[in-house]
Amino acid sequence: MLKNLNDILPEAKSRKEAVGHFNINGQLWIENILKAAVSENSPVILATSDRMVDYLGGFKTIQKLVLSLIDYYNIEIPVVLHLDHGQTIERCFEAIDAGYSSVMFDGSHEVLEKNIELTRKVVDYAHNKNVSVEAEIGTVGGNEDGVIGGINYADLNECIRLVDETGIDALAAALGSVHGPYQGEPKLGFAEMRAISEAISIPLVLHGASGIPTHQIRKAIELGHAKINVNTELNLAWKAGLIDSLRNYPTVYEPKILQELSAKNIYSVVKEKIREFKNLE
Ligand SMILES: [Zn+2]
Repeated sequence: MLKNLNDILPEAKSRKEAVGHFNINGQLWIENILKAAVSENSPVILATSDRMVDYLGGFKTIQKLVLSLIDYYNIEIPVVLHLDHGQTIERCFEAIDAGYSSVMFDGSHEVLEKNIELTRKVVDYAHNKNVSVEAEIGTVGGNEDGVIGGINYADLNECIRLVDETGIDALAAALGSVHGPYQGEPKLGFAEMRAISEAISIPLVLHGASGIPTHQIRKAIELGHAKINVNTELNLAWKAGLIDSLRNYPTVYEPKILQELSAKNIYSVVKEKIREFKNLE
């Protein structure tokens, strides 16, 4: 049985911890994210970016694969299956119908009124089926799932209205983070973050966390972030492992062997992130 965000985030928030959201790009990711979370006895959020869903065989295939692997490995930690950056309300409905336990509707590119109207439709549909909903205000910099854009800070009053008028369960308020690698030290808007976290009670979500230094992650968690999204770092770890393997074993062609190091690297990054988000040494 999959859990939703409400089963895990409020508790994490009350302990000033965050739960890791890790994007999956295939079975290798699912298995190693799950194993790392089990090794830390921690809940975990498996996420698919909307743009990756078709590549991975569609919502139903992904949902069945995740459930089968949970069963195969006798996994007992809470696992959430989440749609990341759902591009349309129909895509969110599709994910919900296929058995996802959580969806993000990304209406951040719409004007506020439209974002509220569409997000509320997703919330109505999702809550009926015990599925949680995340929504976004502002623009995360860099490559936001195919749309290259600058950073556009979330506005406090818009955050309050989106939360109050839709009933969402978690809010991604863009405050200077970037999808993909950072150039130089990230500059998160902590003053704005504090104001937002004091004004709303639901957990905040940090997008584009790959490459944000630990002291800034800690501060974001203290200011109400209970879900932190990691994608780029896992893929960089996968790539580094593959390059090393190809160099080390030039005559090997068995994928299982060539991807062993990538698997280990994904496992290590996830474990490290979970510990960082719980403030463990
Ligand atoms: Zn994102």
